[in-house]
Amino acid sequence: MLNVNDIRKDFPLLNTKVRGNQPLIYFDNAATTQKPICVINSLSDYYQNLNANVHRGVHWLSQEATDKFELARERVRHFINAPKTENIIFTKGTTDSINLLAECVSKTFLSQEDEVIITEMEHHSNIVPWHIAQEKYKFQLKYIPFNDKGELDLEAFKQMVSSKTKVLSLAHISNTLGTINPVKDIIKYCHTHNIIVIVDGAQSIAHLKIDVQDLDCDFYCFSAHKVYAPMGIGVLYGKKDLMEKMYPYQGGGEMIKEVTMLKTTFNDVPFRFEAGTPSVADAIGLGVALDYLDQIGMENIIEWEDHLMSYANERLKEIENIKIFGQSDNKSSCISFLVGNIHHLDLGTILDMQGVAIRTGHHCAQPVMQHFSIEGTDRISFAMYNTEQEIDTFMTALQKAIKMLS
Ligand code: PLP
Repeated sequence: MLNVNDIRKDFPLLNTKVRGNQPLIYFDNAATTQKPICVINSLSDYYQNLNANVHRGVHWLSQEATDKFELARERVRHFINAPKTENIIFTKGTTDSINLLAECVSKTFLSQEDEVIITEMEHHSNIVPWHIAQEKYKFQLKYIPFNDKGELDLEAFKQMVSSKTKVLSLAHISNTLGTINPVKDIIKYCHTHNIIVIVDGAQSIAHLKIDVQDLDCDFYCFSAHKVYAPMGIGVLYGKKDLMEKMYPYQGGGEMIKEVTMLKTTFNDVPFRFEAGTPSVADAIGLGVALDYLDQIGMENIIEWEDHLMSYANERLKEIENIKIFGQSDNKSSCISFLVGNIHHLDLGTILDMQGVAIRTGHHCAQPVMQHFSIEGTDRISFAMYNTEQEIDTFMTALQKAIKMLS
């Protein structure tokens, strides 16, 4: 089991006092995670000792920065067990990765007769890019429904699939319901029907051991900031044969082989999809964060977070009139709830006054809210540095807030 007290020492922000000298309890990890000191130091080290543009310099500094940047790509490859570094494209984050795919996959592989399937539990960043692409490329967009437990209706999905279905894009873990979708089985099924599968790993990268070869997904996207690394950088893993067929997303430096005044020839994958100066320090920081997680061990993190979830679920049973949204047996570290008629925002505000940071609202998943005919929920979400004591303090704060608001 992981030593949570030792881990907490690595995260300076967890010692912060908020709202009148109260210790911060940070339960908004599905939105973003805090950063360990090794990641923070790597950012400042980069700007103090290494800052140069990558890939195109003959000078020492540029070559050092390039080596570290490419080493970060290798660290990502290792962390998700991709076959080669060519499979790893650096993007700005999950949203950027999915926008890239919605545009490039649609342009390259889809015609007006084709269909794309997503699910009703997606984050807006796996819905809106498809709406935008749909307007341009005129394919049909279909949604897999989910039941009141928050589990996908896989029978309905199978009924939906036809020879027109070309792409399925779905969340590995729902950021609202916490459901871990059975993506491996879904991918297997899709591949028997020649369907390209995109996995939105924004919520799974920090909470599951990811092996893209074992999943056999065609694409896997994640944001670094959800996995203890800097904001502004993310990853798109893709199978090479698909990426090599894909038309580029953006044009600019780095992504070309040759430019004449008449035409451009494009660089090889992954550089073809990395136009312009990348976020070098952030990529290096991501590599450092993934090394840090490797040292702790994802198995230990999963075990601890499962323990926190069981403990929180048990304690939440003490609350009268609580409704938990997302009751799947296969769930990861977030719990969405409402208490009686108390508005989610009011509850979040009173908790914040007591030093407890939770998320309130629709969590960028309005179709999920529409399913339950609600406007929003309160959501607590855990990371490896959270503790049982924090859950106890949260429970006391919650009981106090409910008393005030009832
Ligand atoms: N997909 C899911 C499931 C998410 O939870 C999030 C963010 O919360 C995103 C996509 C978007 O991530 P980002 O804003 O880092 O691009």
